[in-house]
Amino acid sequence: MLFSALKYDEPVFRPPGEARSAILQATLGCSWNKCAFCEMYTSKKFKIRSFDELKPEIETLSKVYKGVKKVFLADGNAFVLSAGKLIPIVSEINNQFGKLQRISSYALPKDILNKSESELKELKSLGLKLLYIGIETGDNDLLKLINKGETFNSTIDGILKAHEAGIDTSIMIINGLGGKKYSKQHALKSAEIINQVSPKFLSTLTLSLPYGLDHFQNRFKGEYQQQTIVELFEELKLFIEHMNVENTIYRSNHVSNNLPLQGTLSKDKDQLIESLLFAIENTPANKYPSAPAFL
Ligand code: SF4
Repeated sequence: MLFSALKYDEPVFRPPGEARSAILQATLGCSWNKCAFCEMYTSKKFKIRSFDELKPEIETLSKVYKGVKKVFLADGNAFVLSAGKLIPIVSEINNQFGKLQRISSYALPKDILNKSESELKELKSLGLKLLYIGIETGDNDLLKLINKGETFNSTIDGILKAHEAGIDTSIMIINGLGGKKYSKQHALKSAEIINQVSPKFLSTLTLSLPYGLDHFQNRFKGEYQQQTIVELFEELKLFIEHMNVENTIYRSNHVSNNLPLQGTLSKDKDQLIESLLFAIENTPANKYPSAPAFL
């Protein structure tokens, strides 16, 4: 990540695919900041940064990182900004950087639905070509239990609205999100939602418990029983078996994952399932994931 040019308001997170991007903090924190599993921005109060603050930072980034092809707008869901606020920012990025491959940001489905079709098309024409959306699950029960503030339908509507405007999406699902009790419905409804939206990119992360199991159980509004690594692999296998998308690039290469996987769905589906079967057969049945050293 290109961090040294500016004084960032830490912590800063970006998707693995933005490792070589210039990062501009258009907002600080997350406007929602209520998901039961997420500790990313609990230390920050959400704030919209003004164009006057951002303009000199865009200029600095463009000078220090000459030749950079991508700009990522941080923090949590910079796409919450209205089109009226985003358009001057992306226009200034284009003015200062010249030709870019793409501008991207994290978004919630409601951030997309709050914009008109023509606003989304204008943002796309200005280079905002990719939105990272942590939908986490397609299951309505689980969406409520984790307090996502979205539903199966609002998620589909938001993603399809972005696609209709020509904006690609990179969708994230969390393996193990519902524990033993909700595992099957999580896998099946998540596959169903992916089948309906056919994103360009899909990744799976594994639920992390940086503050321990009790902390998460207190935030999860239901019965949460942690899964073993084998049970997590079985859930992932069920999810992949039920997906029927074409040309979705799939990765599970996040540090939280117990098994790195990648391929194009559906072309590589059999091979992904075989890798999971091998992992299931060769992992002790009673082994639980260890707590990660990150939030
Ligand atoms: S998962 Fe995303 S929307 Fe939910 S609190 Fe974390 S950053 Fe905000």
